[in-house]
Amino acid sequence: MKINETQIAQVNDRIAALRKADNFYGKKLKALGITEIHTAEEFESLPFSEKADLREAYPLGLMTVPEEEIVRIHSSSGTTGTPVVIPYTAKDVADWATMFARCYETAGITKEDRIQITPAYGLWTAGIGFQAGVEKLGAMAIPMGPGNTDKQLQFMQDMKSTVICATSSYALLLAEEVEKRGLKDKIYLKKGVIGSERWGAKMRQRIQSILGIELYDIYGLTEIYGPGIGVNCKYDTGMHYWDDYIYIEIIDPTTLKPVPDGEEGEIVITTLVKEGAPLIRYRTHDISRIMPGECPCGRSYPRLDTIVGRSDDMMKIKGVNVFPAQIEEILRTFPEVSSEYQIRISHLDGKDTMRLYVETTGNIDFADLGERIAAKVKSKIGFTPIVKVVEIGLLPRSEKKTKRVIDERYD
Ligand code: ZN
Repeated sequence: MKINETQIAQVNDRIAALRKADNFYGKKLKALGITEIHTAEEFESLPFSEKADLREAYPLGLMTVPEEEIVRIHSSSGTTGTPVVIPYTAKDVADWATMFARCYETAGITKEDRIQITPAYGLWTAGIGFQAGVEKLGAMAIPMGPGNTDKQLQFMQDMKSTVICATSSYALLLAEEVEKRGLKDKIYLKKGVIGSERWGAKMRQRIQSILGIELYDIYGLTEIYGPGIGVNCKYDTGMHYWDDYIYIEIIDPTTLKPVPDGEEGEIVITTLVKEGAPLIRYRTHDISRIMPGECPCGRSYPRLDTIVGRSDDMMKIKGVNVFPAQIEEILRTFPEVSSEYQIRISHLDGKDTMRLYVETTGNIDFADLGERIAAKVKSKIGFTPIVKVVEIGLLPRSEKKTKRVIDERYD
C-alpha cells in the first residue's frame, strides 16, 4: 500500500520538526539536503531509523519539541543495552489512548465491560496503555498489574471481569489455574486481549478451550507509542492497524526495498502525527506481511498478518524465507520428537540445503519419521529438508540459549 497524499503532507510536517530539533534524524535529513518529499518514490528514498540510533540518543536526544511540551517518558527495558527513552507530549498520550480505545472497540468491547489489566505499569508502555484505552472507551478498568495469581482470580470472580488483558504466557497460567481450581463456572470472562509476545496456535487453542473466550492480538512497540497500534477483529484475518496515525511498509530485509502487499518482509513504521519523538521509516525487525484485499468486517484500516519472527533470525533457503519458529511449530505437531533440534544450512552442488536434526525416543522407525517431517516442511514452507533422526540425548544441550541454526554457507 503506497503512501497517500495526506500521509505525505504529515511526513513533511515531521521532517520540518526533526530538522528544527536537529536530532539524529534531523541531521541525516540535513546531510542529504532533504526539506520535503512529494511522491511515494521520494518517501521510499528517505533513510531508515534503527534501534541503535535511538539508543545513542539516550537520555533525551529524541525530543523533537521544547521540553515544556513533554508530559511523560516511557522506556524499553534495556536488558540488551542502553535503554531507549521516548518522550511524549499531551497530544501523543491522547492519540495513543484514542488508538487503544479503537482496539477495544474493534474487539467488540464496550462501556459495559469490566477490564482486568495484568501487564506491568511503569516505565514500560504496557499497563498504562491498556488503562488509558479503557478510560477513553468508558469501560471499567481493574488495574491489577502483574503477578499475585490468587488475588487476580479473586478479583476476576468478585468484580465479574469480562475482559482479561495479559501477555500470552500469563493468560495461559491464569487459564490453567482456573481449570485446576475448578473456577470455570464462577468467572464471567468473554474476551482476552493479548499483547507483547509471539505465540503459537497451540497455546492460543489451549487458552481458548479452557476459558471459552475470544482472543484478540494487540500489536505495538515502545518506540511507536506502545501496544495499541493494531488489533485483529472478530473475523481474525490479521491485525487492523491505524493508518491515520502510522504508515507501515514491508521491506525485503536483504535489499531494503519495499515489497508488494501480500509478500512477507520486515515491518517498517513511520509515525504520522507524533510530536514528542516522531520516527521516520523505523525498522522494527518484526516479520509479517500486509494482507491484501478487504476484511469481511468492512473496516477500511489495512491489516498486518501475525508476526512470524524477527528478521535477525531469518534464513533464506532456495529463495524461500524461513524462520526457526516455523520449523519449531511443525516439530511440535510430532509428539514422538523431543524439544531439541538443530538446523544446518549448507551450499552443496550449487544448491542450498537444509539438514534438520531431530531426536526421538522409543522404537520409532527413524526413516519413516524423517520422511513424514520432510513432507510436512515441504507442504507448509515449500522446500524439502534432509531430516536426520537421531537417538535422544545426541544433540548438544547448553545452559545458555542453545544455538539451533548453523549456517555453513558463510564459513
Ligand atoms: Zn476486520
